[in-house]
Amino acid sequence: RTVYVNGEYLPETEATVSIFDRGFLMADGVYEVTTVLDGKLIDFDGHAKRLSRSLNELEMKEPCTQDELLEIHRKLVEANNVTEGLVYLQVTRGAADRDFAYPKDAEPTLVLFTQEKVLAQSPVAKTGISVISIPDIRWGRRDIKTVQLLYPSMGKMAAKAAGADDAWMVEDGSVTEGTSNNAYIVKDGVIITRNLSNDILHGITRAAVLRFAQEAQMQVEERPFTIEEAKAADEAFVTSATTFVMPVVKIDDAAIGTGEVGPIASRLREIYIEESRKAAL
Ligand code: PMP
Repeated sequence: RTVYVNGEYLPETEATVSIFDRGFLMADGVYEVTTVLDGKLIDFDGHAKRLSRSLNELEMKEPCTQDELLEIHRKLVEANNVTEGLVYLQVTRGAADRDFAYPKDAEPTLVLFTQEKVLAQSPVAKTGISVISIPDIRWGRRDIKTVQLLYPSMGKMAAKAAGADDAWMVEDGSVTEGTSNNAYIVKDGVIITRNLSNDILHGITRAAVLRFAQEAQMQVEERPFTIEEAKAADEAFVTSATTFVMPVVKIDDAAIGTGEVGPIASRLREIYIEESRKAAL
């Protein structure tokens, strides 16, 4: 594979980053994952804007302009012949002597690579996934897309150990989000998902799906919902850049609705994929 590191396109085996990089030493960095369908980028603009916001919140420099970022994404997709998959992008504060206080003028490290993956025709979307609930013990700025992903990784491992696919995190009785996705339930035809705040990542897929839902005259309510409400819901699903809309059919030991993929989740998945393909760059 060809990867990108600080201005250079290199074979992955030749790409290097300093051992003093603060991303490596302190998880001092942010990332984005942009999906590729038909060799084109889904919602590039949304991901680029969220990246700028994350960098700004952490007083990090923009490594380059949005146009330059788009060009790097496109070059990597082309160099690696990616028709379906993703582009991973990471910006860290850069290399400096190890210190908790961060340098204000460090040169950021910018790394991008691609990964091929079957996404639109994922067989899992037909049967849905099961989730377990776990306490949300992450820090209080989950709106910043940092590379501190240890707790979500542990959540995924706990899910696998319990024979499930993923975990929903619960704080003060309410679901915040999934380990790597936003969480939704459907009750009496109303789509319910937690409102935006510092408690959750502002999903790019979430924004698109809510817009498509409203355009399709579906009812949407943005508010916290409890884990008990979720277990008694008619449908549940998650959204993320690489899973689009993924139905959830079981939460802990409770089957959701009929225990099969529900009509609203499957319709939203279809609409999302169709509209995203049309708008891809
Ligand atoms: N929440 C969390 C915690 C995530 O890690 C992700 C995906 N990175 C999402 C939500 C979904 O965000 P997006 O739709 O932008 O992929």
